[in-house]
Amino acid sequence: MGEELKEKLFKGSETGWEKLSNEEKEVVYNYSQNYMNFLNKAKTEREFIAEAKKEADSRGFRDISQFESLNPGDKVYYINRDKSMYLAIIGNETIENGINIVGAHVDSPRLDLKPNPLYEDGGLAYFKTHYYGGIKKYQWTTIPLSIHGVIVKTNGEKVYVNIGENENDPIFTITDLLPHLAQEQMEKKLKEGVNGEDLNILLGSIPYGNEKVPEAVKLNMLAILNEKYGITEADLTSAELEVVPAFKARTLGLDGSMVAAYGQDDKICAYTSFTALMELQNVQKTAVCILSDKEEIGSMGNTGMESEVFDYFISELLNKTGINRPNLLEKVFCHTKMLSADVDAGFDPIYAQVSDKYNAGFLGKGMSLNKYTGARGKSGASDANAEFVAYIRNILESNNIKYQVAELGKVDIGGGGTIAYILANKGADVIDCGVPLLSMHAPFEVTSKYDVYSAHRTYKAFWQSY
Ligand code: MN
Ligand code: MN
Repeated sequence: MGEELKEKLFKGSETGWEKLSNEEKEVVYNYSQNYMNFLNKAKTEREFIAEAKKEADSRGFRDISQFESLNPGDKVYYINRDKSMYLAIIGNETIENGINIVGAHVDSPRLDLKPNPLYEDGGLAYFKTHYYGGIKKYQWTTIPLSIHGVIVKTNGEKVYVNIGENENDPIFTITDLLPHLAQEQMEKKLKEGVNGEDLNILLGSIPYGNEKVPEAVKLNMLAILNEKYGITEADLTSAELEVVPAFKARTLGLDGSMVAAYGQDDKICAYTSFTALMELQNVQKTAVCILSDKEEIGSMGNTGMESEVFDYFISELLNKTGINRPNLLEKVFCHTKMLSADVDAGFDPIYAQVSDKYNAGFLGKGMSLNKYTGARGKSGASDANAEFVAYIRNILESNNIKYQVAELGKVDIGGGGTIAYILANKGADVIDCGVPLLSMHAPFEVTSKYDVYSAHRTYKAFWQSY
């Protein structure tokens, strides 16, 4: 009696694994393997966009500049300075009635090289860095690191750098103090234990030739870089070189149920939504996928979501479908629905004290919806309207997709935000909808393969709905 009533009235909170058949598990594991393979090829925003372009091209998507006009079924994209990308499949229904957006970000916390990075001290050469995004600095010492990015010469030539991923490549690291001499360091607050100015990448130790020139180790590093890339020290000032963990994405756990990898915030939502779009053919509402940059540092600048470039892309869709007129863009946004696809803080039993366990996202329990984000009294929150939450719940429930509605940590413990508010400010209905993650922003982040696949199904179902 009570059991039956409970079944009917309670929300239910069992893990998603319990109800999976062996065949379904196989699908989850295979999809997650592809996800991990992709992560190994796309550790930075530029690499993600390059891989996404290749895949989109092979699936019949074309740069918007190649279309004179757009018709239902057309697949189109716009790449913004190699760092962010917007893709669309034109729907059967007029764009005037609104579009369905899934928006994720492809940048992740990392260490950027400073504009003048190279120096020599104590017979060793180093690259100085400036950290990007919210990191716990101590986590980035004594791990293998790789260097990815571009160096642009004054003639416009672009040199692509990727050192430390290939098994035969050297890797780099940031050293830390031995415990024997770390008494003073160990007394410091954790956030002061490793200084931002001390996040220097150990680069080399052999001086150039046997000449007694000063800074001979630095000279040798420049000689190697010059031979390999044809660059000089000044060329490093017009470069974007990003230092990321050199380790590969791996299956985690005796049961193989989890993924441990760098950059899952937010490449997990970027990958699961992007691959969902690739699988779509005909959609009723125009389906738009956002792969944005600079989310980790506030979405500013011409590749961040705060820029007008996305509006320009939608305006171009309106121009090329031949329906544009004054204020139509604003109307489109007011009728738009969006999933802000970003990770959620997963409940970590070791640090249970920061979560309200009745309102936390758990690994393996499916999509994590955050009705609102923000901090303290919902300050800065993008708060989804109840009507829209119900609309999304209906899509999830009618497609048999497990979900949980959570918030990021206990009240007054901290908080966070995503790109949700940016589109919500334009008039769209937006809800945060992503994957719960452990060790967020660490060099090695953890997710459940069940949730990886649930995210993929969710984004696909959302675009197919109308
Ligand atoms: Mn994120
Ligand atoms: Mn983040």
